Amino acid sequence: MAKKDYYEILGVPKNATLEEIKKAYRTLAKKYHPDMNRDNPKEAEEKFKEISEAYEVLADPQKREMYDRYGMDGVKDTFGPDGFKWENFTHARDFEDLFDSDFFRRVFGVDFFGDSLFDAWMRGRGSPERGRDLEITVEITLEEAYTGTVRKVNVPHEVRCEECKGTGAKKGTQPRECPTCHGTGHVRFSQVRGYTHYISVNQCPECKGKGNIVDVPCPRCKGDGKVTRTQTLEIKIPRGAYTGLVLRLTGEGDAGNKGGPPGDLYVVVSVKPHPSFQRNGSNLYYELPISIPQAVLGATVEIPTLSGKTQISIPPGTEHGSVLRIEGAGMPDLRTGRQGDLYVKTKIFVPKKLTSRQRELFMELAKTMGDTVSQKKGFFR
Ligand SMILES: [Zn+2]
Ligand SMILES: [Zn+2]
Repeated sequence: MAKKDYYEILGVPKNATLEEIKKAYRTLAKKYHPDMNRDNPKEAEEKFKEISEAYEVLADPQKREMYDRYGMDGVKDTFGPDGFKWENFTHARDFEDLFDSDFFRRVFGVDFFGDSLFDAWMRGRGSPERGRDLEITVEITLEEAYTGTVRKVNVPHEVRCEECKGTGAKKGTQPRECPTCHGTGHVRFSQVRGYTHYISVNQCPECKGKGNIVDVPCPRCKGDGKVTRTQTLEIKIPRGAYTGLVLRLTGEGDAGNKGGPPGDLYVVVSVKPHPSFQRNGSNLYYELPISIPQAVLGATVEIPTLSGKTQISIPPGTEHGSVLRIEGAGMPDLRTGRQGDLYVKTKIFVPKKLTSRQRELFMELAKTMGDTVSQKKGFFR
């Protein structure tokens, strides 16, 4: 295979985002459209093919990574020994707005490309379709995020009807190929206007695009080929899970169409707010109320952590808002497993009610410190 710089072909930088790549392809696809290049349609098709090959690789994160690492060697299995063919282009459906418009439809006209691109597109539409992806949210507590947990969830999704093996036809009968579209699910109307050969593609009205006709529908799925089933899945939520973490369960989405593979299930984790701890990454924050004597004289007090209670010593003369750190008492990091820290912020608690003895002591304290204080008893009630 000839060495090619896919980034150069699409005119995008090496670190281009998927959105930029898509935009570049769209612009170039319009530029090399044969309608705009009537004088040299063959050359335009070559260019069109070249940008589509580049797009096919760069729009797929896995293929792109292989290409970035190993160059053309990384993608040689993608296209087979002869290199890129229209059959390898899997993105026609992403540009349906272009492909469906009158402007683009004529690309598939025999005047320009022969039937090559048109046929590839038709095959793409009739071929197996991957099932839908599903997404669910799982709410866990901070304690569960700390230890990791297993959640059983009920996921209603479409699965292949086992009674008819997904064909939609009653047991013992077979669906027959639609005579109108010969199984493609689409019908083509061609029309010659002046020198231009127009082709329009519509969904087959007889089979509604399915490509086959079920005479006796399966009683269980009513001819759908799919049934909705609620499956109980065990979802392993790792230690250190955080809000917004997405876990992918391959193949647990909806069943595919026409024998296509099932979609995936995406599990979005949401961690409930904790009454005592606040979290930032793998660090935890805790506000510790201490009394005035504790702040002045120092103390050893018990505080909660996610792994049980622990003692913390408050040095004499601790200010309001001082921060003490307990190393390793934070959250585990999802990737490294390394434990974050627990930050304890002191909050000096000022009593609103005093006994007369306590009031006496405070008055005496004020006197020894030379502080002027209110003599009104009523303030303390
Ligand atoms: Zn069925
Ligand atoms: Zn049909």
